[in-house]
Amino acid sequence: MSRDWNAMAEAGFRAHLRAFIAQNCPEALRHLRLRQPPGVTMPWYKALHAAGMIAPGWPAELGGMALTPERHLVFIEEMEAAGTPWLHDSGVRNLGPAIIAFGTEAQKADYLPKIAAGEQIWCQGYSEPGAGSDLASLRCAGRIEGGTITITGQKIWTTSAHHATHCFCLVRTSSEGPKQNGITFVLVDMATPGITVRPIRNLGGEDDFCEVFFDGVSVGTECILGAVDDGWKVARSLLGFERIWAGSPRRARKALGELEAVVEAAGLGDDGLWQDRLVQAEFDVLDGQDLYRSFADLVSTEGRVGTEVSALKITATEAFQRISEWTLEAAGQGGVEEVVPVPGQPAPAFTWFESRAPAIFSGANEIHRNILARRVLGLGKEAAR
Ligand SMILES: Cc1cc2nc3c(=O)[nH]c(=O)nc-3n(C[C@H](O)[C@H](O)[C@H](O)COP(=O)(O)OP(=O)(O)OC[C@H]3O[C@@H](n4cnc5c(N)ncnc54)[C@H](O)[C@@H]3O)c2cc1C
Repeated sequence: MSRDWNAMAEAGFRAHLRAFIAQNCPEALRHLRLRQPPGVTMPWYKALHAAGMIAPGWPAELGGMALTPERHLVFIEEMEAAGTPWLHDSGVRNLGPAIIAFGTEAQKADYLPKIAAGEQIWCQGYSEPGAGSDLASLRCAGRIEGGTITITGQKIWTTSAHHATHCFCLVRTSSEGPKQNGITFVLVDMATPGITVRPIRNLGGEDDFCEVFFDGVSVGTECILGAVDDGWKVARSLLGFERIWAGSPRRARKALGELEAVVEAAGLGDDGLWQDRLVQAEFDVLDGQDLYRSFADLVSTEGRVGTEVSALKITATEAFQRISEWTLEAAGQGGVEEVVPVPGQPAPAFTWFESRAPAIFSGANEIHRNILARRVLGLGKEAAR
């Protein structure tokens, strides 16, 4: 289904989304604490796809909604207000835009429809033991011979690898020149022989990320996205899109709602300290929203994400942390025990745990400060990432 979503009045667009969610997203899938396995959320994914609403940021001719940044925020707001579940949609959010930018016509025709339809679930194989912040030090090897590339090495912290059908990964195909050279971006089917996935339990008790081992995994060179040895360019572009997602104000906004509810439930609403904090938190969310819009605008008008996006990632993730810390403090005993101070809300300790990760993934915030200092403010030498 193709329609001009941006031409609809905002109220009509919101009403359309609300009605759609009410009809298609079962109550049992709403307001879940954790990301569920794809089997659980796939009917909702497929309903979004069938209605042409799975890819809000993709161009219309490739099956997307082509939403303006403003509309995209409205879309996110409505989905979150209704508590729709987290999806395994890295293919839509991260890989899709990179295929659109760097893929051959054959790759676009092959991958994009399957990603949109939920036939392929993608994970991101960038980080390795010894190559996280300093990603360009990666060692997982890709050997090209004839029409195949054979991968041997290890990835780590690969979110949802145990659910994924495919992995987009960075491999070293040459050690000539600077370490950013000689990296190739490869699209790998997880069913290829030689792949072992081992889930890792995180601080919150979930198995959300994994170690992935590649032992002589051979795929055709048609699975290379962009040029051989030039995968760093593709990887950085994808990280830019990922950082806009990581810098979305949605987490901080959700945390603000929880803070308001907990302050109220704890009888702290008349306390000057908590009133100050609520106002500060509200300003943080509004500032984050403005900053997010300006970066999202840049993507839609110029098709690029500037290095300055690091500022967005830092402010959004730190606002989320600050607000969740205040919520935990306001909740007192009810925050850390399995006593939930406000019915229907997650335990504040859960949100606090949740707020740790975004400051680390998509590049740790310290690294983003280095990037801003070196590349935006021109202090010192070029950052590694
Ligand atoms: C929830 C979660 C999901 C993730 N999902 C994925 C995924 O799907 N795919 C994937 O490839 N990776 C994923 N990651 C990995 C993530 O990208 C890395 O954890 C991150 O890049 C940091 O690398 P590292 O863990 O090796 O830490 P390190 O690089 O070892 O850093 C450790 C600490 O040292 C600091 N530090 C390091 N170098 C510098 C420096 N030069 N200056 C100042 N401080 C520095 C860092 O900021 C950090 O605080 C995920 C991580 C998390 C937490």
